[in-house]
Amino acid sequence: MAGTGEALGIDVGGTKINAFRVARDGTIVDRSDAPTPADDEERTLATMVELAQELRTPDVLAVGIGAAGMVDATDGVLRFAPNLAWRDLSIASRVRGALGLPCQVDNDANTAAYAEYRFGAGRGYRHVLLVTVGTGIGGGIVSDGRLFRGANGFAAEIGHIIVEPGGPLCGCGNRGCWEQLASGRAIDRMGREAAGADEGSTLRRLAGDDLEQVSGRHVTEAARQGDEVALRIFAEAGRRLGEGIAGLVNVLDPQVVVVGGGAIVAGDLLLGPARASFHEAVEGPEYRPRVPLVAAELGNDAGAVGAAALALEELGRVMA
Ligand SMILES: [Zn+2]
Repeated sequence: MAGTGEALGIDVGGTKINAFRVARDGTIVDRSDAPTPADDEERTLATMVELAQELRTPDVLAVGIGAAGMVDATDGVLRFAPNLAWRDLSIASRVRGALGLPCQVDNDANTAAYAEYRFGAGRGYRHVLLVTVGTGIGGGIVSDGRLFRGANGFAAEIGHIIVEPGGPLCGCGNRGCWEQLASGRAIDRMGREAAGADEGSTLRRLAGDDLEQVSGRHVTEAARQGDEVALRIFAEAGRRLGEGIAGLVNVLDPQVVVVGGGAIVAGDLLLGPARASFHEAVEGPEYRPRVPLVAAELGNDAGAVGAAALALEELGRVMA
């Protein structure tokens, strides 16, 4: 059985549930998805079980789940999701009960980090930091080849480091969290502010003259056209991103930083300034090996693929 078994990987995000059947080498064998009933915990669980039943075969040995929020990996309970209504959701026991399969639950950025380490941009390294820049900022740490979960599974909630006391309000209840200043949401906000301040701005024109509609997509488009305001927004968000990463590298000493999430469609518009400020802000840059800051390779698939790989790894440990 060892070496041939597969696992189901399920990524539960705020808008969509992705479910894959995944082979040991990370290959996605089959896939399905459904919208997340985000305001209904029971239906969220039921949808996860339905997708798993749809993809399940006799080769499936375990289920891995990556969920957005603070996941207690010791008992598979999602304790708190800052941007969603979920509180104390007993994912592991419910899914295990419905499917009769071992079930491992982690934070979705943790599972994505593990996937990038095993099969993506972190391949070949033992110490990997993943930073996902989407609506918010998530993170995952692989230390010496193992996912670093902390005491409960709450490690690497990096988006909620306060970098500007009294700054913009965050979904977690605090002000000035890193994710409010360097994420896709921050780029959206800066774009709206810039468009509001200038009636003739490119951003405003791209959004059909509707200020409320200005988003990161328009900022990216304007920056690609060489618009200086949009380039300044990326310079600012990238600087904040790079400074935050420098702080994390000072703490964790990874060999590589993989940057994923929706905002990396902007590519070097964001990563360029992030690299520059990172290398400036990290401690003793001339006295340490250069830490590459690279784009993630697995895109939206990473969360579910990593969840499946972690479920198989956990199974191996239990059976050893
Ligand atoms: Zn926060």
